[in-house]
Amino acid sequence: MKSPFSIPRPIPEGPWRWLVPVLLVLLFLLVLLWLPWQARQMESNERQEQLIADTLWVEQTLRFELARSEEALATLGADLALTAPPPDVLQTRLAQMLKTGHEVLRVVWLDADGRVRAMRGMDLPAAGLTQSSREAAAMSRTTRTGRYSDPYGATGLMHGLVDFHLPLYHGRTYAGSLVATYNLQVLLDENVPWWFAQDNALSLLDRDDRVVARRAAGGPGRGVYTHKRALDLPGASIVLATDSVKGAPRLLPNLLVGSVIVLALGLVLSLAALWRHIARTIAAENALRQQMAFRTAMENSLLTGLRARDLEGRVTYVNPAFCRMVGLPAEELIGKKPPMPYWAPEAMADYEYRFKKVLAGEAVPQFETVFQRPDGERVPVLVFEAPLVDSAGRHTGWMSSMLDITDRKRAEELARQQQEKLETSARLATMGEISSMLAHELNQPLAAISSYTAGALNVLARAGDANGTGDAAPDTGMLRRALEQANTQARRAGQIIRSVHEFVKKREPRRERVSIPQVIDGIRALVELQARQSYVTLQVDVPAPLPPVLADRLLLEQVLLNLTRNGIEAMQGIDPERRVLRISAAAEQGRVAVSVTDNGHGIPPEVAERLFSPFFSTKAEGMGMGLSICRTAIEFHGGTLTHADNPGGGTVFTFTLQEAQAQQADAA
Ligand code: ADP
Repeated sequence: MKSPFSIPRPIPEGPWRWLVPVLLVLLFLLVLLWLPWQARQMESNERQEQLIADTLWVEQTLRFELARSEEALATLGADLALTAPPPDVLQTRLAQMLKTGHEVLRVVWLDADGRVRAMRGMDLPAAGLTQSSREAAAMSRTTRTGRYSDPYGATGLMHGLVDFHLPLYHGRTYAGSLVATYNLQVLLDENVPWWFAQDNALSLLDRDDRVVARRAAGGPGRGVYTHKRALDLPGASIVLATDSVKGAPRLLPNLLVGSVIVLALGLVLSLAALWRHIARTIAAENALRQQMAFRTAMENSLLTGLRARDLEGRVTYVNPAFCRMVGLPAEELIGKKPPMPYWAPEAMADYEYRFKKVLAGEAVPQFETVFQRPDGERVPVLVFEAPLVDSAGRHTGWMSSMLDITDRKRAEELARQQQEKLETSARLATMGEISSMLAHELNQPLAAISSYTAGALNVLARAGDANGTGDAAPDTGMLRRALEQANTQARRAGQIIRSVHEFVKKREPRRERVSIPQVIDGIRALVELQARQSYVTLQVDVPAPLPPVLADRLLLEQVLLNLTRNGIEAMQGIDPERRVLRISAAAEQGRVAVSVTDNGHGIPPEVAERLFSPFFSTKAEGMGMGLSICRTAIEFHGGTLTHADNPGGGTVFTFTLQEAQAQQADAA
């Protein structure tokens, strides 16, 4: 049936429901962790590249400085090769060399035989030029180009020295050489800008990777970002090594990693909360679905018709019982506004009156009405209206429940007919009783009249004989005729009375084989109806195999109805929960006994005395014929009707009838 509420399909259970979001979250976490690492990597690459560029720049600077110095030396050499200047000019020019480049420690002019012709700056060591310097000199002479020696001097700071040998030629003849000695430490100190030295530890390394000069204004390098670059000096192998004082990038990744962890934790926590929430939602949804299924099943199995309407009287819901009642499917009812398709034309005014009240917000709480099915059949119903209030306490419409009271109406009609029949037969029986009584009472006076008239006629006859004529006096003739007439009429009246009496006496009931359980079943609906109206519980205790009796079924029914009605009426004054009426039957010694037991007010002795007398009643509206007729009826059947006190309070009325076989055997 259509319901105003609908629940979505259940979410499919299984691992897939969670797999995708979990995988996505894991992926997200991975990306979050990878990002800082990637950022760190990029930053370190950037720093490395910066270091390389800076190192290159420093190398260029150093090369440039040395090249400038080489050039100045070459100019001087060219002049010296042509003509030797006067000593003071020579000294000035040599001094010039030292002044323009602080890294130049000394300048020596050697002749073709290697003897010192002029010198300026630091003294030559006693041992003369070092081995490497001499090799460089020889090499320069062979290649006819300037050559540097390998660094020499004590390893360590301030001791890295290199010699530059510039061969001098006069035409094609070797004319000696110019030797400039450079202090590599000064070269570094003078030519590397302070900001670079602040950020990087710089060192110059020889062929064996020994440090020959170092500058580290900002402290030792961390060894994270390093770069080496050969100075590319002809003849010498000197490498410029830079080592950044900066360590691996820390702060940013730490921050990033920290926030990633916090974010991830938050994510996991919220995911868990979401998980819990969803689990709860699903559980609630399942419970709701079960409730809905239960309610729908309940509504569908109800015999009571249910109908919901909104405040404008439009039908919003009907249950199957309602549809059955009016013989229309739900689709034809839902959404409809009055006039409704099941309204019967004859009750239109009623419906409209009640509908007006509904619109005014004051529905009639309970009423009986009639609905019409499509085939024209009328269904009497009992309707209960109640306001429909939503969860927020708002009045949203009306809920009606209806009972099909066809059966009840039928039972009431049956009861009415039974009652009528009962009353008719009661009247008939009373008439019979009265006729019988009259016949009995009138028979004697009529017989007496007849005897007296016969006596009088005899007297007259004897008087006629006595006067010898044999005739009576003429005036006695009339008297005799009159007496004869009176006698005839009295006899006739007696006969009429007798025949009436005979008729009443001989009115034998129509006897047939009757099963007591069937008789009880026949009146059960009627008794139940009366019992229900008086809040009495009916108990029937009849063993199924009960021998049949020969009786007039209708009379038996009336006896039982009388007894049960008296029992119900006797219990009006006691608590409803104690109002129990019991019909029981049993077979004993060839007789069937039927008892009607109540818990009512009982029968006091003065009432008991006159209980079966006609027209005796203790009830304001009682006719007082019931028990009298019952007894006559039972006695007609050769049975007995007795009463006794019920030990638990109240009265037991019992009638006994002979079993059918026993009765037939007796008759035989
Ligand atoms: P009515 O019921 O019309 O009064 P009845 O002949 O059926 O006539 O009953 C006569 C009287 O017997 C009743 O008025 C009532 O006082 C008494 N009586 C009958 N049945 C019972 C009973 N089960 N319990 C108590 N009193 C009863």
